Amino acid sequence: MKKIKSYLNPIERLGTKQYSIVFPLIANIALGILSELYTYDIAKDPNSVGMYIIFLNVFFIIYFSFRDGIKGGFITTGITICYYLYIIETRHYHGSQFTAGIQTTIMLTLIYLLLAAIIGWLKQTIDQLINREADEKKRLQTIIHQLPVGVIIAGNDGKITHINPQVDKMLGVKLPLGFKIERDTLKKIKIDETKSDPAKTLTISALVRNKPMVGQEITFERRGGKMKHLQISAAPILNTRKQTIATASIITDMTAQKELERQKDDFLSMASHELKTPITSMNMFIGLLKKQLKGEDSAKAKYYIDRIHDQANRLNELTNDLLDVSRIQTGKLRLHEEEFSLSQVVEDTIEGLKGTTDKHEIKFVNEYNKNIIGDRYRIYQIVVNLVTNAIKYSPDGKKIIIRVRKENNNVILSIQDFGIGISKEQQKKIFKKLYQVTDSDEKTFPGLGLGLYISKQIVQQHKGKIWVESKKMKGSTFFFSLPIQTIIR
Ligand code: ADP
Repeated sequence: MKKIKSYLNPIERLGTKQYSIVFPLIANIALGILSELYTYDIAKDPNSVGMYIIFLNVFFIIYFSFRDGIKGGFITTGITICYYLYIIETRHYHGSQFTAGIQTTIMLTLIYLLLAAIIGWLKQTIDQLINREADEKKRLQTIIHQLPVGVIIAGNDGKITHINPQVDKMLGVKLPLGFKIERDTLKKIKIDETKSDPAKTLTISALVRNKPMVGQEITFERRGGKMKHLQISAAPILNTRKQTIATASIITDMTAQKELERQKDDFLSMASHELKTPITSMNMFIGLLKKQLKGEDSAKAKYYIDRIHDQANRLNELTNDLLDVSRIQTGKLRLHEEEFSLSQVVEDTIEGLKGTTDKHEIKFVNEYNKNIIGDRYRIYQIVVNLVTNAIKYSPDGKKIIIRVRKENNNVILSIQDFGIGISKEQQKKIFKKLYQVTDSDEKTFPGLGLGLYISKQIVQQHKGKIWVESKKMKGSTFFFSLPIQTIIR
């Protein structure tokens, strides 16, 4: 029954591009035969056909043009006209009746052909459009299916309209088409949250309306206890009137990368710990050796030992930097807060670094004397790092100006040098881990590119900010600010 209905219903055939010849042919011949039977057997009047038949013919032309396109419409018109001619012939029209019959037939032929052409053309155009859209959909589906990342496209109601198998693999559960992404429904499929709330993140990603969501990370435990780290980005899909019609979410599996990072961090932490022990004992023995040296002859030996001592100290600093980085990565960099004077820290730094340069004049402008609260050792580490850089990157000597002042609710420390400077492009990057400026036309300076990265992390842990203002070949000023909340007197 359903099959017959869909065979006869032209709406259900839209987009199928099946244009039958046989069905309109048989149906129209049958209509002609039935009309004849009616006129002779029922009405008993060969001339009774008239308007009823014309009405039925028009209906058939519209129906078959819409069902079978131009072909269907033309076949119907052809058979109908043949039947009209057959009537003229068999009813023996003559004289004015014959002329009127022929004229009417010609007029109706033109009208029928026009009707069949317009409706048939419309039907075929609709079919083409439907097919084009279906092809487009198929193409999109294939692309989504083949992408190496997970893709979910959800409608405005949060229901999934497209999803690829990668998502199922990542989540460990199958989300079917039409599944409504809602926090509660997601909780039911048991994605156990750990550090983040995956159900919430996924829900937001499915319902992003205005601003795209960029690189949101979620960590969760899959069924069976396996940890998964995913990164989700989402953006609204807008129509031509800029209205949100759907949301596309891209999910990347970061599990392998995270594991690799963890292994790297573990190695860094282990290696720097292992390096620390021999360096400490080296320093101790160097001290003992120095004490053993006596007399005039030992001057040269003392000089060499001092150089070994310098290098051992440098090695010690590098290992400390590596240890700090591994602490930052694993979230283990702890602050030991105490009350201290920032200007005292600056003075200690200047005192400590005096011996390292005789080309620079370090000037200290102190405009803020109150104590602050923070990790004294860590802040000292930042100041030493910034002043060491100021010395290192102004090889021709000149002045270095350190200034401590208060601005709004912050205390700001600045260190200005008149050295090689940093281009605008590089200024954005120097606070990144392991970043060093390596312009080919520039002299390269030794270092690991960790100092500014560590400084930034420490300042951020103090809820402060660090930044730089610089002009190439004119010099740089590094600033860091600490919020006043930490200042008690
Ligand atoms: P490094 O151990 O290489 O000095 P840092 O993290 O302290 O590492 O600095 C990163 C990079 O920033 C340096 O390689 C250098 O190119 C640039 N830089 C830092 N301080 C200055 C400065 N005062 N003047 C010019 N360049 C600087």
